[in-house]
Formats: sequence, structure tokens, C-alpha cells
Amino acid sequence: MSFTLQGMGVSRGIAIGPVYILHHQVEITEYRIEEKQLESEIERYRNALKQAREELREIRDQIPLIYPSRDIPSPNDTAIPTTAAEIASFIDPHMLMLDDAMLTQIPVEIIKDTRCNAEWALKQQQDRFTDLFEAMDNEYLKARKHDIQQVIDRVQRCLQKAAQPEEKYDNTPDIPEGSIVLAHDLTPADTALMPHQGIKAFITEHGGMNSHTAIIARSLGIPAIVGLRCARRYLRRGDTLVVDGLHGVVLGNPDVRSLRYFKNLQTEQKRKRSELSRLREAPAVTRDGKMITLYANIEFPTDMQAVKRTGADGIGLYRTEFLHMNRSPEEGQPDENEHYEAYVKVLRAVDGPVTIRTLDLGADKQVDGGIARSGGAVPANPALGLRAVRLCLRDLSLFKPQLRAILRASIVGPVRMMIPMVSSVHEMAQVHHLLCDVKRELEAENLAYDPEMPVGAMVEVPSMAICSDLFIPHVDFFSIGTNDLIQYTLAIDRVDDEVGYLYDPLHPAVLRLLNQVIVQSHQADKPVSMCGEMAGDPRYVRLLLGLGLRYFSVNPETLLEVKHIIRHSDLNKLRPLAKQVLNSQDSHQIEDLVAQMNVL
Ligand code: PEP
Ligand code: MG
Repeated sequence: MSFTLQGMGVSRGIAIGPVYILHHQVEITEYRIEEKQLESEIERYRNALKQAREELREIRDQIPLIYPSRDIPSPNDTAIPTTAAEIASFIDPHMLMLDDAMLTQIPVEIIKDTRCNAEWALKQQQDRFTDLFEAMDNEYLKARKHDIQQVIDRVQRCLQKAAQPEEKYDNTPDIPEGSIVLAHDLTPADTALMPHQGIKAFITEHGGMNSHTAIIARSLGIPAIVGLRCARRYLRRGDTLVVDGLHGVVLGNPDVRSLRYFKNLQTEQKRKRSELSRLREAPAVTRDGKMITLYANIEFPTDMQAVKRTGADGIGLYRTEFLHMNRSPEEGQPDENEHYEAYVKVLRAVDGPVTIRTLDLGADKQVDGGIARSGGAVPANPALGLRAVRLCLRDLSLFKPQLRAILRASIVGPVRMMIPMVSSVHEMAQVHHLLCDVKRELEAENLAYDPEMPVGAMVEVPSMAICSDLFIPHVDFFSIGTNDLIQYTLAIDRVDDEVGYLYDPLHPAVLRLLNQVIVQSHQADKPVSMCGEMAGDPRYVRLLLGLGLRYFSVNPETLLEVKHIIRHSDLNKLRPLAKQVLNSQDSHQIEDLVAQMNVL
């Protein structure tokens, strides 16, 4: 019988194949060890640790073979870091944990003190960690619990493998090619090997949008769904699945018609991608001859490989806060040089301007306690709290090194600095004061910078959209962040799926704000772009063109699709319909008009 399950899609694409269920969680039983067997039990435990290290080392050594380094030529011959390097950086912390006393000594002491078997001793240690991490306030450290669990699971599997060598265990490469893997959870190391093993997609019962595993799935282009609770209860080995990684939907044992539908969709997507790739060099020009600027959004310097395939005009949003994420406490937070080097890599990989957004930490992007927080407690409404520029202005030890790095990078290539979540003119004035101080410091140190570097603001708080005219004297450009602007205008938490149905880019309040910002920026001759997801959503591109938007910044995955729409649009036909949209009073009428625009 067919059925549908819904999870969180973290890596888009459609995959069809049989499910292979990984039973990562091993059954752990307790038994007593006789005095004379103690040494051999400890030896068994140490061998399992050794085996786990070996496995990780093997995976690490295989990565450069699976993903050979590809140096991308740049003006100064700087190689872009490879996927291999990125993946290895997720495996190394796991190897370090295996050498830590928490795993090399404490379980051994538990075996000695309580005369229990190695598996049970390791489980005791795992339970202690779980309690310890659960009690923590710090979200970043809480997330580390997940890494430790993954490492302990690996050691447990090694212990069991040694006890029952004939059994097949999960991390063996025996998963049939073409499978869709379903697991309670997956390690980054497991994920890194998937393309090599011919695994088409994966589903996990746990995990988040920005877990290491999800990041790797996206960078490898493997369709993936996480957070599909209890999926193993519903799926049986061999069930045929359709995984839609964009919508987070799993279709089980589809009937012939559904299967045909998804196969056609898959073929169609492939054909479209290859057809779109021909647009790389084509200009984003409308039918009536208006040139549109198409920038890309990135999170990591490594994203530039994907950007290069799109022929983007530059980077319209570089989310630099990702430099602060997924770091171990030992690594600490990035310093000025690490920021600088990341910016230089991006600048050297693209011809156009690079819009470096200053840190947008806070809300759903909490990091380690190296960053000042009021009282250290997690705020009740983090999206309305000490976030982005508010946090930066509070903690100059965080902000100043970034400002210095951005200014220093501004002589390597065209840099635009962009400030997120500005809600008052006063905040922009503070940023400008700080920039003056930093420039003076650099001059005193004989460090060069571009004195003309543009400084702009994101329009993502309604107060700025409503009063954009007041901000105009303080900015060189605006970029509309619809993800937050919609969240704050409609009072909908963008990460809360319970209210997701209210998240509506076509709400008249949102459209009026967009129109006002665009019109006022044009009147003042200030460039205005849009870097929120709305800009890259094919459903809204024509409406935005009709409203007068001329600069779009979109995810590299959708950039060529947006270019295609632009090249088939006629502004003369779109303008009057956009005007009607603005005068419409109900959302059905708006939807009809937008639909009309899309078939012109
Ligand atoms: C936005 O809010 O639209 C935006 C682009 O910023 P982020 O998604 O990083 O909050
Ligand atoms: Mg935002």
C-alpha cells in the first residue's frame, strides 16, 4: 500500500529506490566480568577504540580519492578549498574524541570498578554525557552531544563486530548500490562516503537543517530529509521510496501512476538543469532590453564552485556568520585573519562585487559562549533579541575584527559591506562611527583599504521598510531580506512549522513595504536589491520585476532558472499588472494576477 511521510527537506532533488535500513543503535546488555577476565575485557575495549580510529582514518584517507582536489584558477592562482577538505574537517574532531581520556580512561575505570562488560561501561559513560549536556544552556555545546554520541555508537559497533564477526554492520560498504538509506541518525563521515557507495538519498529520524550531516549532503548534492520521527516504524527493508528532498516528502511503495509521475519529474529536472546550464554566459536581459543584475548568495567560500557554474554577476549576500558555526570549543571563534582569508578567497573567485554581510548571529544562529549574551540565559524571543547588528554593537571584540578584515579585503576586489537587522537610524550612525575608528587604526598600522567601499543595510525589519527615506542618507545601497521582513511584518516565527502556513510573501502588507522601499530607493538613486528567498522563487520573479526590482541575489541552485524567467519577461507588460496587484484588496485576487504574470 502507498503511504506518505513528511520530514524536513535539507537537500533538494528527487531520488527513487529501495530503502536500506541502518540499525545503528545496537542492543546493549550488561554482564559481569570475572576478575581473571578483567584484563582481556579492557584489551577488548581498547581494540574497539583502535578499530574505530582505523575506520575513521580509512574514511579520511579515501576522501581525496573520492573527491579529487580541483584547483579553480583565479587571478592570483589561489585554490578554492575543496569539498574534500571541508569533509575532512568534520571527521577530525571525531578522531580527537577517540583519543580523549573521556573514552580512553573512564570506561576502563568503570570496567575495573564495577566488573561490567565493555559495552555496558561505555553506555554508562554515554549516559553521563547525555545528562551533562542536557543540563547545558549553551545551544552550541548542546549540539556537541550529538558528535559524542556518534563516536560512541561507532565504538559500540566495533565491540559488537568483534564479538559477532559474521554479522554485517552499518558502516560496512555493503549497502546495495542505488539504495536510499534510512537511519536513526548519520555521522558526517558516513555521509561523506555515500556518493562513493552509490547511495541515492538518505532519510534520518533526527537532525537539523544545519547539522554537519545536512551541510555535507547539500555540498554533495544528495537529496536528504531529516527529522522524520519514527520513520523506521513505518518503513520495511526493500520498500520502494520516492524522496523529494525539496519538500521533505517521502512516498512509500508508490503506485504505478505516482512512480511514473516522479520518474518523469526527475527526467524533466535533469533535462532542465542541463538546458539551463547553457545560460551561464547569457545576459540577464528582459525581452524589452532591460539589463537585470543577478548576484548569488553564499555561506562558505567553497560555495564559489557552484557560483562559478552560474556565471553570477557577483555575490549579493555572503552570510559570514557561518564562519563562526560548527567549530569546536578548542578552535574558538575566528579571528581577523581567518575572516580576511575567507573574504579574499571569495573575492578571487568572482569577477563582480562581493557583498559581505556582517555577522548575523543570534536567533536561530546561536554559537559558542565566546560571544557576549545578556546574562548568558537563552532569551524568550531570540528572533527579537540580541541578534545581528545589535549583538555586534554590544560586543566590539566580535565586530571590530570583522570590520578590519572587510576593510583590508576591500583592496583585493570590489567589496560592499552590508549590515543586517538594522531597525533604527541610530544603529547605522553607530556603525559609521565605528568604521571611522577602524579606518584610523588601519592607517596608523599602514594597512591599506578602499576609502570608497560602499556600506549598505538589509531591509528586514519593518521599521526600516516603513521609514526607508530616513535611512537613505546613511546607506549606499539597500538589500531586502524578505525571509526576516516577512517574519517580522506578519509576526510569524520563520523556524516554527506550526505557523508556516501564514508565511505569505504575497500578503498586501509585505507587498506595500517592498514597493515603498523600491520606489524610495529609485527616487534617491540608491541601488536596491533583494537577497531573501523570495527573489529566487520562480513564482515571484515577474512580480518583482513589475515592481521595479533590478538587482536580484539568489541561491546558486536557482540562479539560472531566475535568469531564464527574466529573459522571457517583458517589463512593459508586467508593470501594469504589478500596479493592479498593489491596488488589490484580497489575496485571491493577488494570486490570480501573479498567476497571470507568470503565463505572459
Ligand atoms: C533575509 O532575512 O531575507 C536574509 C537574506 O537573511 P537571513 O535569511 O540570513 O536571515
Ligand atoms: Mg535575515
